[in-house]
Amino acid sequence: MLMRNSILWAANNGTLRRQVMRSRLARPVARRFVAGETAMQALETTAQLNAKGAHVTLDYLGENVTSAAEAAAVRDTYLGLINEITQRSLDCNVSLKLTALGLDIDHDTCWANLRAILQAAQPHDLFVRLDMEGSAYTQTTLDIFEQMFVGEGFRNVGVVLQSYLYRSANDVERMNELGARVRLCKGAYKEPPTLAYPDKADVDRNYRELARRLLCYGNYPGLATHDSAIIDWVKQFVRDERIGRERYEFQMLYGVRRDLQQQLIAEGHHLRVYVPFGEAWYPYLMRRMAERPANLLFILKALRHR
Ligand SMILES: Cc1cc2nc3c(=O)[nH]c(=O)nc-3n(C[C@H](O)[C@H](O)[C@H](O)COP(=O)(O)OP(=O)(O)OC[C@H]3O[C@@H](n4cnc5c(N)ncnc54)[C@H](O)[C@@H]3O)c2cc1C
Repeated sequence: MLMRNSILWAANNGTLRRQVMRSRLARPVARRFVAGETAMQALETTAQLNAKGAHVTLDYLGENVTSAAEAAAVRDTYLGLINEITQRSLDCNVSLKLTALGLDIDHDTCWANLRAILQAAQPHDLFVRLDMEGSAYTQTTLDIFEQMFVGEGFRNVGVVLQSYLYRSANDVERMNELGARVRLCKGAYKEPPTLAYPDKADVDRNYRELARRLLCYGNYPGLATHDSAIIDWVKQFVRDERIGRERYEFQMLYGVRRDLQQQLIAEGHHLRVYVPFGEAWYPYLMRRMAERPANLLFILKALRHR
C-alpha cells in the first residue's frame, strides 16, 4: 500500500515527470504499455490486435490540460482518429478523459469538445467511452454523461465505474436504470478511506457484486480486469445464469497479461484491449507501475543494460 501510494504521488509530481520523460531508458519501458507516440502507430497496433481476434479501444494520452488550445488539439486528434478508424474499417472504439477535453478549464469548453466528438462518431455507430478519473471528477463526469446520453440523446456514449469507491453501488443502480453501458474497473487513483475501500479484499468483493448486477440488469458491461480469480468467477457466473457471450465483454490493458487475453479470445469471449498512445504517457505509465510495483523491475533491468 505504501509503495502504491508513493508511486501514485510520483504520478502527479511535475519535476519527476520532466526527468523521467527526458530519460533515455523510460521510453522503451513505456512502449510495453503504450502503442507509440503517434496515431498512425496506434492504428497499426489496432489492426494487429484485430487480426488476433481482439476488439480495441484507443485512448489518446493527455489529462488535466490547462488551456483551451490544448483541449481543442485533443478534440481534433479524436476527430482524426474517428475518421481513420472508419476509413480503415477497424474494430475499434475510443476512450477519453474529460480533463483532456478541458474539464479543469470550464465545463462549457469540455462539453463543446465532447459534443463535437460524439457528433462525429454517431453516424458511424462508433462508441465513445468516458474514462473515470480521480474522485474529484466522479460526480461531474456522471453528470456530463447523463446530459449527453439522456439530455442530448447520444446513445453512443458510456461511462466507467470503479469498485473501490463506496458510491459505485448506487451509481451502478442508476446506470442500469438508464440502460447505460458501463465499464467496471477496480480504480487506479489514490483515494482516501472516507471515499474508497482501503483493503484490496473489499475492492475485489465489491467488484464481483457490481459485476453481478451489471451482468444481470445492465447493458453490455465491459468487465475491465486482469484478475484471473475474478475472470474465472465471471465465467462460472455467466454459465450458471445462462448469460450469453453477446451480453458482455472482457477488457484489458495493452501490454498486460497478453497470455490471458489470448486465452479468452481462444475460448470465444469478447475481449477488448485498451490501447493508449501519445506523448503524454508519464501519468499513465506510473499508474501501471502502482498496480504492479514489480513493473519497476523493467526500469531497473533497462538501467542495467543501458
Ligand atoms: C480496459 C481497462 C480500462 C480501465 N479504465 C480505467 C478507468 O477509466 N479509470 C480507472 O480508475 N481505472 C481504469 N483501469 C485500471 C483499473 O482500475 C485497475 O487499476 C487495473 O486494471 C488493475 O486492476 P486489476 O483489475 O487488473 O486487478 P489487480 O488485482 O490490480 O491485478 C490482478 C493481476 O493482474 C495483473 N496486473 C494488473 N495490473 C498490472 C500491470 N499494470 N502490469 C502487469 N500486470 C498487472 C497482475 O498479474 C495482478 O496480479 C482500467 C483497466 C482496464 C483493464
